[in-house]
Amino acid sequence: MSVDILEKINTLKDELNAANYKYYVEDNPSISDYDYDMKFKELEKLEAEHPELKTPDSPTQRVGSISEKFFPHTHKYRLYSLDNTYNYEDLTEWYNKITAEYGQHVELVCELKIDGLAMALTYEKGFFTLGVTRGDGVTGENITPNLKTVKAIPLKLFENVDVEVRGEVYMPKTSFEKLNEENLQKGEKLFANPRNAAAGSIRQLDSTITAKRDLSFFSYTSIFENMPNAPKTHYDSLMYLKKLGFKVNPNIKLCKNVQGAIDYCKKWENERFNLNYATDGVVIKVNDLRIQEEMGFTARAPKWATAFKFPPEEAITTVEDIEFGVGKTGAITPVAKLTPVLLAGSTVARASLHNFDEIKRLDVRVGDKVVIKKAAEIIPKVIKVVESDEHELLEEFQAPTICPSCGEKLGSPDGEVNLYCQNPKCSAVVKAKIEFWVSKDAMDIDNIGPSIIEQLYSKGLISSSIDLYKLTEEDFMKLESVKEKSAANMYNAIQKSKHNSLKRLITAFSIKSVGKETADILAGEFGSLDRLKVAKEDDFIAINGLGEKMAKDIYNFFHDEENLKMLEELKILGVEPPAVEMPKSDVFKGKTFVLTGTLPNMTRDEAGAIIKSHGGKTSSSVSKNTSFVLAGESAGSKLDKAKNLGVIILTEEEFLGMIK
Ligand code: NAD
Repeated sequence: MSVDILEKINTLKDELNAANYKYYVEDNPSISDYDYDMKFKELEKLEAEHPELKTPDSPTQRVGSISEKFFPHTHKYRLYSLDNTYNYEDLTEWYNKITAEYGQHVELVCELKIDGLAMALTYEKGFFTLGVTRGDGVTGENITPNLKTVKAIPLKLFENVDVEVRGEVYMPKTSFEKLNEENLQKGEKLFANPRNAAAGSIRQLDSTITAKRDLSFFSYTSIFENMPNAPKTHYDSLMYLKKLGFKVNPNIKLCKNVQGAIDYCKKWENERFNLNYATDGVVIKVNDLRIQEEMGFTARAPKWATAFKFPPEEAITTVEDIEFGVGKTGAITPVAKLTPVLLAGSTVARASLHNFDEIKRLDVRVGDKVVIKKAAEIIPKVIKVVESDEHELLEEFQAPTICPSCGEKLGSPDGEVNLYCQNPKCSAVVKAKIEFWVSKDAMDIDNIGPSIIEQLYSKGLISSSIDLYKLTEEDFMKLESVKEKSAANMYNAIQKSKHNSLKRLITAFSIKSVGKETADILAGEFGSLDRLKVAKEDDFIAINGLGEKMAKDIYNFFHDEENLKMLEELKILGVEPPAVEMPKSDVFKGKTFVLTGTLPNMTRDEAGAIIKSHGGKTSSSVSKNTSFVLAGESAGSKLDKAKNLGVIILTEEEFLGMIK
């Protein structure tokens, strides 16, 4: 054994122990779960290769940790952690080992791995008497009064049984966002994710604070005493927990074999984002409790269960620099250049910092360690600076005063938080506008991307979006490595876009604060560019949902001399959208629909088109202004929200019935 290996093992142990303390005791992780798991696996591997170096205090031999804030309580039955894997080969290998021992027909139960905190709840003769955190698995913290405030934990069961129930306390995503918003207003600490928020809420010394936090609980294990008829399979035990009055996750699935489990993991890897609670993977358990008992446990985890972890949604990395992009409206967007890190299955080297107020709010400095998160957007965003002593030594961030592209002084019109380059000839702004013009959401012109635009611009072949319509096939041939065929493709794609819908054309104009949804509303309300040109500011204000500021921006756009010239020129060049079809009826006039889930006979886009053709509108989020939610199969958090707000929910059949 070399000294190097011992040193490596000790370093890993120190790093994992330090991370454990921050995670379990302070609820404030300093590294990402993925990094933690990779270090853990490395240590496990070294210990397996050098068993003589494995010590009982190694993090691989222990579960969690406890703080001294609460009274300790020794668990009657030990609580374990779970082994985990990030790939299907390991999962299959685990299953194959089991079938080799117990035969081909070992059933598995798949459950979502709820990203919260494990609790052990004791019920005596059906009454809730004790609630303890998992802690280090042997000893936990007695937090009974706090757990009594969680409404999903029954205080009295429907049967007078003696049982220990285990499950996960969690905070719904919407409640987490609300709590952080409130904390932001009050200038209090923000939680990095729903798990930390749940941990910080359930482990409060004052249970009246816990009661104010919206926490919930999913049960997933039961241990019965003196009960000859106790369930024989894990699946039946979950059904029994439901019968006793516990909340059991509705997405559990009994699978015949490992392929069923893999299909389940694949399904939820994508669909988890529609749930109103965080889940970081799938827990796969042997269904037969007799086999579970025979298989037993390792030092820290059951052998009859394993967790398949989803690629990380959050990561921690270092900000190497803060760079500035110039957008199509001239807005300067700060972007963090990062030490590359794995996030949701891909390596990420840049993250959005949103705007300069956000940098100030987060107090991000070059050199800081930050938490980044993959959201619905394409580029991930920085959500938090990891607390550290070094932070104060780093230089505070200063916003730029001049445009990084053209050097013009930056300004913030109307007291906006964004800084803008107000030079209409700034090459970065012009190129961003053209890039947006050809993009999928706007004119959707295939084959022309940023590098072609850069070349066309630098060769002086275009200086605005409308110049695209003046290009000939020969012009494209002047570009680097463009041959006849691709020149023809690009030329034809541009010609084809001339008859795109009015909605696409309005979107392509890059009018400040007007995205494709607003463009759609404008196209539907006015039907043609000529009508938009003569509309008054009040006509725009009268459109529900536009707001005065947006109405003014739209009005100004259609009354700007340069823009009017551009519209005339477009007409001459043959860019003329077909007339917009006016609604077939006004059955849905004034009604807003939200579409969610998979509909049996039509796509959501088709349903949206029907709604519009009958005078209604669609929106992407549910609010108290939503008239109807049209829900199909696997509808997620939107459906939950609609139920909470009492919004009418329609099936496809009911919806079609309304327009018959
Ligand atoms: P774990 O979270 O990987 O798995 C075990 C836990 O899963 C159980 O204790 C239980 O709480 C939970 N669970 C959720 N749904 C479940 C279900 N349906 N059935 C059974 N259990 C379910 O293990 P752990 O020991 O709690 O924590 C270790 C993990 O925590 C690490 O793998 C790492 O990802 C993370 N961690 C991160 C840091 C950090 O610094 N970022 C530090 C320590 C631990």
